[in-house]
Amino acid sequence: MSPFAYARPSTLAAAVASGARHRSDGQREPGADFFAGGTDMVQLMREHLRTPGEVLDITALPGLDRIEAGEAGLRIGALVRMSDAAAHPIVRERYAAASEALLASASAQVRNLATVGGNLLQRTRCGYFRDPGAPCNKRVPGSGCPAIAGQNRLHAVLGVSDQCIATYAGDFANALVALDAELLIAGEGGERRIPVAALHRPPGDTPWIETQLEPGELITAILLPARPDSWRSHYLKVRDRASFEWALASAAVALDLVDGVVRDARVAVAGVATTPWRLPGVETALRGRTISPAVAREAGALAGEGAVTHGRNVYKVELIRRTVARAIEECAA
Ligand SMILES: Cc1cc2nc3c(=O)[nH]c(=O)nc-3n(C[C@H](O)[C@H](O)[C@H](O)COP(=O)(O)OP(=O)(O)OC[C@H]3O[C@@H](n4cnc5c(N)ncnc54)[C@H](O)[C@@H]3O)c2cc1C
Repeated sequence: MSPFAYARPSTLAAAVASGARHRSDGQREPGADFFAGGTDMVQLMREHLRTPGEVLDITALPGLDRIEAGEAGLRIGALVRMSDAAAHPIVRERYAAASEALLASASAQVRNLATVGGNLLQRTRCGYFRDPGAPCNKRVPGSGCPAIAGQNRLHAVLGVSDQCIATYAGDFANALVALDAELLIAGEGGERRIPVAALHRPPGDTPWIETQLEPGELITAILLPARPDSWRSHYLKVRDRASFEWALASAAVALDLVDGVVRDARVAVAGVATTPWRLPGVETALRGRTISPAVAREAGALAGEGAVTHGRNVYKVELIRRTVARAIEECAA
């Protein structure tokens, strides 16, 4: 690990100010790196994939470790540990997909340390990105993407570009997209609010720019909207082994079911895409229908629309169709 300075600010303003530097031309560039649970950061720093000059431990920031219920819904502070969010009674009861996604992530030990904010911003598990000796457009712009013609069994088929096919690895963001959640973000200019669905950017021509966050911006909370009782949700994850493993494919399904008929639906997938990936075609196919195995299969068949495969990951197209169909059936059951 390279040497670094360490600070533990006690105010949001101090953290945000240190997270960006002002250049002489007036532009801002990244400053100190935020550090929450450290479960991804330490791995990246040990491998010299990230070499911050200064690390800002944000765990002393006040008020970000609380879950608060109100009329508008639930507010989960960014520093809430994954295990605490998963076990919260309102999360389990009203936002089941979020609890299920968290419990399907990592291990109990990691979940006890890792925060929900850090989870959303974990970096890809692409083996080339994680190998400091390999070229990678995400890490070293312009160096190439060996995954395109190489070991790509775990790579994305949705949202890919000719610069990068790395999969977004997280589970929780996928559930939050299906649940229509938003993020509160603090920056030097104050606070702003964006849908979770807008946080991550597909690679396009700039795979090294992964999110919409500006230098110094900090996620302070996740907002889950209040929903009528007719809404239910479910998270289904398919992986090589039953625990301590990232998704080959996963589906988050939220259904507004009235008298057995789907009034509204939101469906998102992960493990197969470069960002948490919403499936509007599947949602449209579900609206107004009564869920049966045939209807779930018919809607699930649309999940692979737009997929681009690269040899070893061709199986993911059929896998995501079946994963979505099963998640729809299980959600409605
Ligand atoms: C063995 C192993 C298995 C795993 N399996 C899974 C899995 O199956 N599914 C899954 O989803 N995840 C999995 N993970 C990833 C794990 O969930 C993440 O490492 C963890 O959630 C990151 O949270 P953290 O608080 O430790 O973040 P950190 O490591 O502290 O930070 C991660 C990133 O987020 C930034 N950051 C942190 N908090 C904020 C904030 N509030 N605002 C702005 N930036 C912030 C940091 O600067 C850094 O870039 C696994 C991890 C390990 C080690």
